[in-house]
Amino acid sequence: MEQAVIKLAIQKKGRLSEKTIELLKNCGIKFISNSSSLKTKAFNFPMEILFLRDDDIPGYVADGVADFGILGMNEIDEKNKDVDVIRKLGFSKCRLSIAVPNAFDYTGINSLEGKKIATSYPTILKKHLEQEGVSAEIHEIGGSVEIAPTIGLTDAICDLVSTGGTLLSNGLKEVEVIYKSESALIGNKNLSQEKKDLLHKWLLRIEAVYKARNNKYILMNVPQHAIKTVTALLPGMKSPTIMPLKEEGWSSVHSVINEDDFWDIIEKVKDAGAEGILVCPIEQMIL
Ligand code: AMP
Repeated sequence: MEQAVIKLAIQKKGRLSEKTIELLKNCGIKFISNSSSLKTKAFNFPMEILFLRDDDIPGYVADGVADFGILGMNEIDEKNKDVDVIRKLGFSKCRLSIAVPNAFDYTGINSLEGKKIATSYPTILKKHLEQEGVSAEIHEIGGSVEIAPTIGLTDAICDLVSTGGTLLSNGLKEVEVIYKSESALIGNKNLSQEKKDLLHKWLLRIEAVYKARNNKYILMNVPQHAIKTVTALLPGMKSPTIMPLKEEGWSSVHSVINEDDFWDIIEKVKDAGAEGILVCPIEQMIL
């Protein structure tokens, strides 16, 4: 029987594509992509990668043209297709915000009553306005939304904001954050068992990459009298490794620590007498 191959749709060009390709490569999935290819096959994992426009991806995954897709939650919720959100991926974070010209006397969401708002995200905006009980006219436009008030098309805009630089340079102020977005892995709802098994294998790698990113491997030299205090501070995957140094009375202690506790632990082990502390990145972490 022919081996199943999963089809993954990713963004061809744009804010998500670089980080998506990096994630696949960190998962050990090797493939060649160039700017003109629309489709490629991984050499060492049963995966075909389709390079598409991100706003087309929810539809392709819902229809089963692709089994999986990686794209922003903003596109997933805007297109509102019947797909499974398998895992949020944490990159390409941004917010969908309402912004008005600097001179607009904005006192709250009710200031938008009866106004015109330009956006490429009419579904999410409409839902938000309905929730707030505000009635405004939504103008759907495909791009360059921030220009709409300047050319007299609308009174306000609703667009993605990352650094806020685009709003600033177009004389706009952000007045409402209506939605927070990040990248996510989505899947078709009717996957065969073989494809589910392949997803499971791939997810194991994704988890290993994310776990590794949040953890560091640390090594330090510790005098004998401080071993007990230092090791009590270090969790490790099971417990810290202790290896005697050639110089009597000293050991090398190795452990894995979480990024969140990192500085706190480093300060404490240093105070306890640890020296020569080395911190190394971890490529994969499989528990
Ligand atoms: P910024 O100037 O960094 O706030 O970025 C705003 C511009 O980039 C707007 O034109 C947005 O439509 C676009 N943008 C910001 N973040 C994203 C994102 N995560 N995905 C797609 N477009 C984005």
